[in-house]
Amino acid sequence: MQTPAIYEPVAAANALPSPVGSSAAASGLAGYEGNRHGAGVFFSLEPRGLGTGDVESILSYTRRLAEAHVLGVTWMVRKLVLEPLRRERGQRCLLFDPTKATESLSGYGRTPESYADRLSVLTLRPDLRRCTLIGAEGVALETHWRRERSWCPPCLDEDEPYDRLAWGLSTFRVCVTHAAELRSNCSGCGKSHRPLAVGAACGYCPHCGRRLGERTGATVMVDALSRGTYEFVAEHAAGLTIGPGVVTAALRAATQGWGARSQLARRVGVGSSSITRYVRGYGRPRLDVLLRIVAAGGSGLAAFADHVPVALVSAPKSAMSEEFARRVEADLKQALAAEDHELVSLRTIARRHGVSSGLFSRRFKDLTDELVTRRRAYAARRHIATEAAREQRVRDTVRLLRTKHTHITRRMVEGALTHQGLLRSPQLRAVAKEEMERV
Ligand SMILES: [Zn+2]
Ligand SMILES: [Zn+2]
Repeated sequence: MQTPAIYEPVAAANALPSPVGSSAAASGLAGYEGNRHGAGVFFSLEPRGLGTGDVESILSYTRRLAEAHVLGVTWMVRKLVLEPLRRERGQRCLLFDPTKATESLSGYGRTPESYADRLSVLTLRPDLRRCTLIGAEGVALETHWRRERSWCPPCLDEDEPYDRLAWGLSTFRVCVTHAAELRSNCSGCGKSHRPLAVGAACGYCPHCGRRLGERTGATVMVDALSRGTYEFVAEHAAGLTIGPGVVTAALRAATQGWGARSQLARRVGVGSSSITRYVRGYGRPRLDVLLRIVAAGGSGLAAFADHVPVALVSAPKSAMSEEFARRVEADLKQALAAEDHELVSLRTIARRHGVSSGLFSRRFKDLTDELVTRRRAYAARRHIATEAAREQRVRDTVRLLRTKHTHITRRMVEGALTHQGLLRSPQLRAVAKEEMERV
């Protein structure tokens, strides 16, 4: 297989050694060990569609990178990206299993960030985070990422095919350029595949080798959600940080424009209390909900970028508004006023406010420590109490059985207590034995 002409080895121009050729085998890569991070191991391949709604996904970039080096994508990701990273961090497991990776690798979070940053070092391209939705943390995307690869056949029929970032999101069902429905099954063998499956390639099915690109295809209506997703990706690609601040501002404007919150809620298909929560900045709306609300409000997200103080947009996750903090503190204090057996968990309180319990622990260390310590102490006391009660029950049962039988077995005790396997506990077995041997 020849390296396609479109992949100009940019790295060669930078006087970096090319890993193609003899070094395609693992042995040839030993020379790179000298460089701790393996900077520039790969060609400096340029991502496609940067800054537009057609921006390439980092998974597609990875596949093209593998093809440019005539390497299998799974092998390349495992051996040249994840293994060195694992060794360097002294971890036992790889960051993820490439064959099981889903489109969520183009999302935000620790794994996508680690992966994008590592790939940036290896390719000497600082812009790979732009092939992901890192920074769009104001929206809940977890449930939207497709597990299997999906594609628009006419898009992949182009001369330089690549997968768009938007294709990974389940809210994007119809290609806005071709009005063609996305496919996730090969038209040859009917099978689907994971984005980094063994043999996954830009334009071919890894199972049967058939081209995924096709010119013909029935056109359908481009639905509002697909268009909204495309615009969402475009706004993010253009540099808008879709953090909690922007999302809250957009939702606030939409609800104000709409008048009654309950009407808007009905229109977008969520409860009005959810909208209230989002507007106040607790919890993040799902992408489909956000897109519907924004569409109902009549303007895109970018319109709200200016309305939000910069500090709020790029605020670290640990930031908490004062009003919010006061409410949380009051809630924590109220929770602590309860009796020991009625104490609720920190996680329950955190869920009530739609944030993580870690956020509380950092901000209100004394209160959360007190809650955790008291709950733990209570659980320990209760454990001791139940243990003692169990031991007593076993003693009583053995005593009762002894009045009827001369020989008592473990089974008999368990049967009498209707608890199979109870005496597997060494402690209880010892208690039973002691009671049996008592004359
Ligand atoms: Zn298309
Ligand atoms: Zn196939």
